[in-house]
Amino acid sequence: MTTITANADTENTPETYDISRIKNYRSLPRTNGEISFDVEWVLGDTTREPLSNLAYTDENGDEVVNIFIKPILIDFKRTAINFPRNRRNCLFCSNKVHNGNLICNGDTEEYGWLELLN
Ligand SMILES: [Zn+2]
Repeated sequence: MTTITANADTENTPETYDISRIKNYRSLPRTNGEISFDVEWVLGDTTREPLSNLAYTDENGDEVVNIFIKPILIDFKRTAINFPRNRRNCLFCSNKVHNGNLICNGDTEEYGWLELLN
C-alpha cells in the first residue's frame, strides 16, 4: 500500500476537499461497482468515497478531480494504455472496457473527461 499525504502547506481549496491522505491499495474497493477510495480527512475520520464524490466542476465550468486522486487516475490510464488487452472493468460500473479505456460507453457522456487526464 502506498499513501499520498498532504503537504502541510496545502491550502484547503475545493481541490483538496480537506483531505489529509488517501490510501492507494493495489486493488481498490468498489461501491456499487464504482471504484472507491478510503479517504482520511483533515478532521481525522476516514470514509470510503466513490470516485464520483471526488470530482467536481470548478469555477470555469471544467470537470476536475481531487488533486490527490488525479495521480492515481493518471497511473490507471498509463497502465490501461500500456496493457490494452488486459481485462478491466469501467471505473464507474462493472461493465468491461477494452482498448486502453477506463470508462464504458454508458459512462462516457458524464465522465469522458477522465479519459483526457494528462
Ligand atoms: Zn461504466
